[in-house]
Amino acid sequence: MTRGRFTGRTALVTGGGSGIGRAVALAFAAEGAHVVVAGRRQEPLDETVALIEGSGGKALAVRADVSRDTEAAAAVRAAVETFGSLDVAVNNAGVFRGGAPLADLSEEGWRTQLDVNVTGVFLALRAQVRQMRGQPSGGAIVNISSTFGVHTSPAGAAAYSAAKAAVTALSRGAARDHIGDGVRINVVSPGATDTPMSLRPGETESDRTRRAAATLPLGRISATEEIAAAVLYLASDDAASVVGTDLVVDSGGSL
Ligand code: NAD
Repeated sequence: MTRGRFTGRTALVTGGGSGIGRAVALAFAAEGAHVVVAGRRQEPLDETVALIEGSGGKALAVRADVSRDTEAAAAVRAAVETFGSLDVAVNNAGVFRGGAPLADLSEEGWRTQLDVNVTGVFLALRAQVRQMRGQPSGGAIVNISSTFGVHTSPAGAAAYSAAKAAVTALSRGAARDHIGDGVRINVVSPGATDTPMSLRPGETESDRTRRAAATLPLGRISATEEIAAAVLYLASDDAASVVGTDLVVDSGGSL
């Protein structure tokens, strides 16, 4: 049933063509938001838009590489030009190049993970805050970090963990910078979630299910919809006094 916490509001979701980003986009649309999905590839974005429009919602796909300033800013402009405001933004776009120990990590692998996961969040966040602080009703932003980083730092993921720790720190600082402007910024840190990103190299989904049953206190990984529920809470007026928090959704532990 539609609860409509976002009726008439516009929500921008980066990386909205797949995985957690798509689940977040669909969840906002189901609660009445106009949704803008931004990402690098047109086709998956169009699929998300078609799913939303098929359920009677309104959505727009915008091609944007968040690690490029002009493209991150253009996504915000497109949202405002099409729907009139930017009320919510979710910076979800990210890349994981795990597996190698630090000594075997290429400079390119390091730079890519920092470029997309940190600089991409910074550029998108800055463009979003610049828009929201001029709006009478401000806005709410949720950045997607990870349990890798501030909460745990497993082997084979040093660069990704460094990037995600930076997302949490950047968000906490920005939250204090801009709550006075009416812009509320928070973080969701997912643990292992049901997308290909949580599969080890060569692992099948059934292997992962067995690994989760043996390792995680809850006995299973999170569904993308469960991460979306946490994002919607933080973006909603239910969380009006929650500022700069980092909400972990991880089935009780690390996979
Ligand atoms: P995913 O690969 O399906 O989603 C990432 C999305 O970001 C993709 O749609 C991709 O096209 C987009 N993207 C990548 N680089 C981009 C760029 N430069 N500009 C614009 N879009 C770009 O994986 P997912 O699991 O849905 O991941 C979503 C977020 O959740 C990521 O930030 C990821 O680090 C984080 N996360 C995932 C897990 C997990 O277990 N799946 C756990 C913790 C955190």
